[in-house]
Amino acid sequence: MAEPKTNELMEKIVSLCKRRGFIFQSSEIYGGINGFWDYGPLGAELKKNIRDCWWNDMVRSRDDVVGIESSIIMHPKVWEASGHVGGFTDPMVDCKASKQRFRADQIFFAAVVVDGKIAGYVSALESERIAEELQEKAEALKRKKAIQGKLEPVKAQDFTEAKPDEIPLIPSPATGEPGSLTPPRAFNMMFETYVGALRDESAIAYLRPETAQGMFADFKAVLDTGRVKIPFGIAQIGKSFRNEITPRNFIFRSREFEQMEMEYFISDQDDWQKWHRYWIDWCRNWLLSVGVPASQLSEYNHPKEKLAFYSKGTTDIMFRYPFGEQELWGIAARGDYDLSQHAKASGASLAYFDEAAKRQYVPHVIEPAVGVDRIMLAILCSAYCEDQAPDEKGKLESRVVMKFHPRIAPIKVAIFPLLKNKPELVKKAQEVRNLLRPQMTVFYDEAGAIGRRYRRQDEAGTPFGVTIDFDTLGEKPELLNTVTLRDRDTMKQERVKIEELVPLLSGKIR
Ligand code: ATP
Repeated sequence: MAEPKTNELMEKIVSLCKRRGFIFQSSEIYGGINGFWDYGPLGAELKKNIRDCWWNDMVRSRDDVVGIESSIIMHPKVWEASGHVGGFTDPMVDCKASKQRFRADQIFFAAVVVDGKIAGYVSALESERIAEELQEKAEALKRKKAIQGKLEPVKAQDFTEAKPDEIPLIPSPATGEPGSLTPPRAFNMMFETYVGALRDESAIAYLRPETAQGMFADFKAVLDTGRVKIPFGIAQIGKSFRNEITPRNFIFRSREFEQMEMEYFISDQDDWQKWHRYWIDWCRNWLLSVGVPASQLSEYNHPKEKLAFYSKGTTDIMFRYPFGEQELWGIAARGDYDLSQHAKASGASLAYFDEAAKRQYVPHVIEPAVGVDRIMLAILCSAYCEDQAPDEKGKLESRVVMKFHPRIAPIKVAIFPLLKNKPELVKKAQEVRNLLRPQMTVFYDEAGAIGRRYRRQDEAGTPFGVTIDFDTLGEKPELLNTVTLRDRDTMKQERVKIEELVPLLSGKIR
């Protein structure tokens, strides 16, 4: 299997997504809108399968987790109590020369030190090879200024760490020249809107930046109606909105995205570390079950000093994307902060009464929070593969194949009549399609040479192909009512009875 290089791989994935109808730029006919994406026919199926698998495993298959769907626009006081109005900010930097905006923690800089003296500064935007890039720029600066002496290895820092007197000396990543970057300032990422006919301060509301607050705000309602007992979880899937300063890396960081979050409430006296570990392992195993390889995953524990004051611990499951190792799934132990904040701000009691112990307390929470779009990108990156397959004449040609796990593949099986101008073949193929359709997503394709049809389905990531040929019709009587079943990955074909297709394929796609 050929392994394309990282940037090249990302370009290939983006282009395949567009070409095959997985993902399009939003409003493309108007030039697009930065940070927003549309999911085409194959993408919408893939995304739905990701959501369905998660909902099935997280909610339906468990006795201790219930699901909700809360509104996207909630009472603005929710966001005051949660701390988002005051503190949901990213540090923003403007380049006055180019009019570009950056996130301060995504600009890296270093002093160029020659023989112990600072000769200038270099900067670059966050990337996989930030240290090398800064070193190369430092060497170039030394050459340009024709300074003699020994260049010290650069020490990369992000722009939030820049001292006030360093800021005017750091070159803008946009122009390469110093003097145009502003000091970082806090930028609130919540999208504002107005509710009702008046457009004044009192009508301001927010598009939710996370789904989690819906679970806290509905905690009492679920407790009163859901017959739940601690420990239990409330889960939700839904859209979230963040006015990201620099949306980038395709669907990895966008301004409208979808989250799958679950708040797992435990006793204040329970061992939170045990539950934290339990949910990290659950999330990791779930990723494996939808085809994300273990080799691409790692764990990152947030250092204690960088945690919010109420947080007991946060671990991110990281995925090795082509543009670097990045957060895919965050699992946070948040103590009783959220429920206590909402109880204080709303006046409602959000305590839990333990019947057995005759004790009342505010539960603590473990929160696994993940973005559907980030999972989808991880799946697209893991599935992309180039290999060799024989063409019509048996000559090897290169093929692109998306090796999606059958559980989440957008189309499970493609149905091909060998020839489209033979009505008996077409009729039989349509019968097979109608037989399978109630059980799984099928795609019927009669256009073009069979090899070309296979290639199209390989790119769509369809794990199985069923071909109806003259033997199906009884040309060899012993093969009457059998079809060939082709496996996408091995390209092996086996002869299978039509009546066995449903149980056989159903077993393979679950
Ligand atoms: P990051 O540090 O990458 O901005 P975060 O730590 O702010 O992420 P959380 O607030 O913990 O993210 O959100 C939970 C999950 O939601 C993330 O792990 C990620 O999968 C997803 N997510 C967050 N922001 C975005 C975004 N802008 N676009 C797509 N997915 C996102």
